[in-house]
Amino acid sequence: MERKIIETDILIIGGGTAGCMAAVEAKERYPQLNVTILEKAHIDRSGCLAGGMNAINAYLNKGETPESFVRYVRSDSCGLIREDLVKTMSELFEYCVKKVEKWGLPILCDDQGNYLPRGRWNIKINGESLKPILAKAARSAGAQVYNWVTVTNLLTDGDRIAGAVGFSLRNGTFYVVKAKATIIATGGAAGLYRPNNPGDASHKTWYCPYNTGAGYAMGIRAGAEMTSFEMRYVALRTKDTIAPTGTIALGVRAPQVNAKGEQFMKTRYAHLGGDGAPTPYRTYGPLMEIKEGRGPVYLDTRGLTAEQVRELKSAYLDMYPSMVLYWAANNIDPSKEPIEVQTTEPYIVGGHCQAGYWVDGERRTTLKGLYAAGDVAGGAPYKFVSGCWAEGSLPLGPPGPISRTCRRWLFRISRSRRRKRALSRRSSGQAKCATLFSPPTWKPGFKNCWSSMPAAPRPITR
Ligand SMILES: Cc1cc2nc3c(=O)[nH]c(=O)nc-3n(C[C@H](O)[C@H](O)[C@H](O)COP(=O)(O)OP(=O)(O)OC[C@H]3O[C@@H](n4cnc5c(N)ncnc54)[C@H](O)[C@@H]3O)c2cc1C
Repeated sequence: MERKIIETDILIIGGGTAGCMAAVEAKERYPQLNVTILEKAHIDRSGCLAGGMNAINAYLNKGETPESFVRYVRSDSCGLIREDLVKTMSELFEYCVKKVEKWGLPILCDDQGNYLPRGRWNIKINGESLKPILAKAARSAGAQVYNWVTVTNLLTDGDRIAGAVGFSLRNGTFYVVKAKATIIATGGAAGLYRPNNPGDASHKTWYCPYNTGAGYAMGIRAGAEMTSFEMRYVALRTKDTIAPTGTIALGVRAPQVNAKGEQFMKTRYAHLGGDGAPTPYRTYGPLMEIKEGRGPVYLDTRGLTAEQVRELKSAYLDMYPSMVLYWAANNIDPSKEPIEVQTTEPYIVGGHCQAGYWVDGERRTTLKGLYAAGDVAGGAPYKFVSGCWAEGSLPLGPPGPISRTCRRWLFRISRSRRRKRALSRRSSGQAKCATLFSPPTWKPGFKNCWSSMPAAPRPITR
C-alpha cells in the first residue's frame, strides 16, 4: 500500500459546511499557516449541503438577539441545552452569512434590501450551489484539499492529538497527516437504523449517508469526552420522498391534519403552542395520531394559491428536487391534495439533537489540540447551516485583530519551520521521518490560541 505523509499546521477532517468555513477563516486570518482538508467525498458536492438548501434556518431576523435565540432554543429543546454554546454560535450568524453572501450565495431580499424572513429565525436563499460556493472559497483561500480520503483514526502524541490517518477511497493510498491543531467536522451519523420508509423509498435516508459517525468513533477511541448520545433525532419528513417539511410548514404555513381532517396539533397540543409547539412535540404528535389509529398524517396544503405552489416548487428545486419530480410523476397538485408526512428513523446529529463532542466556547474538545465543529459537536442544537459555519470559525478565536498570544504562536511556528528546513538540509530521509512524530515544538504550558481545554468539562448552564 502506498503511503503519503503530510505535515500541516491545521488539519480539517471533513470538508463540509463547518470544515470549509474553518479552512477559509484559518487561511484568511493566518495566511502563513498550512491548512489541509481531508474529505471523504469531493468537497464540491459533499455532506448535508450536497443537494443544496433553500433556507438558512438559524439567523437573527429583525428584532432578535443572541439572548432571544438562546431563549427560543431552550424552550424548543424542552430546556436541555448548553446555553453558552448556543449563544457563542448565534453571535456569529450574521458574520458568517454576510461572508457567504459575498462569496456568491443568492439571499432573497425585499425592496429595501432586507433579507426575506421565513418565520422568526429563517431566511430564504437560492442555495442550489451553496456547496460549490463554499468549496471554491476554501480552495481560493489556499487550503490544500485531499478529496476521496476517508479518515479512520486520530494520531496521538502523548496526551495531544497530533493529526490523523486515513486512506484514499479511489486508490487505497494510506495518508498520515501530522498537524499542530486538528478540527474535526465530519457531521453526524446516518445509517445507524434501518430507514423507516415503505415501498420504493425503503432505501432512502434523510441525513447525508456519507456521514456515518466516523468522527464520533475516532474521538471516542482516542478518549474524548462526549455528551448526550442518548438523544436521537427523529425528523418529520414527506412520505416517499423524505424531503424536509419546514419548507411546507413554515414556507406556506400548512398545518398538520390527521386522516379525519382534524388539526390535531391545534386541539391536542394547544397548551404547548399547537402547530408552533416545540419540535419534539411536532414529531411526537403525528406519531401518536398514527399509533392511535387516526393516521395517516398530512400537511394540509389544500387551498394554496398558484403563486404559493410555484414558490413551494421553486424552494424544493433549490434543495430537494426529487420532491418536485415526484409530484410531477404522480400528477400531484399540492393545492388540491394534502402532502402525507411520516417520521424518519433516528439519527445521531449534534446540530439537531446535541449528541457529540463535549466542547468549550472555542469548540475545544477534551483532547488537547482537537477541536470539533458542526453536527459532530454536541450541546448546541439548532445549528443548521449558519451555526455550523459559526462553529467552523470559532476555533480560530472570535473574528477580529490577531491577539498577542496568537502572534507569539505564529512566530514559534515559523521558527520551528526554519529549524526543520535546516535539519532536513543536513540529515538523511530517515531522520526527516523521525521528526514526524516528535513532540510539539512549543514549550509545555505555553499559553497560545490553541491552548488546551481545562481538565474537567464545564458544567451545563441551564
Ligand atoms: C437533507 C437536509 C436538509 C437540510 N436543510 C437545511 C436547511 O434548509 N437549512 C439549514 O440551515 N440547515 C439544513 N440542514 C442542516 C444542515 O445542512 C446541517 O446541519 C449542516 O450542513 C451540517 O454541517 P457539518 O459541517 O456538520 O456536516 P456536513 O456539511 O455534512 O460535512 C461533513 C463532511 O465530512 C465528510 N466526512 C464524513 N466522514 C468523514 C471521514 N471519516 N473522513 C473524511 N471526511 C468525512 C463528509 O463527506 C462531509 O463532507 C439540512 C440537512 C439535511 C441533511
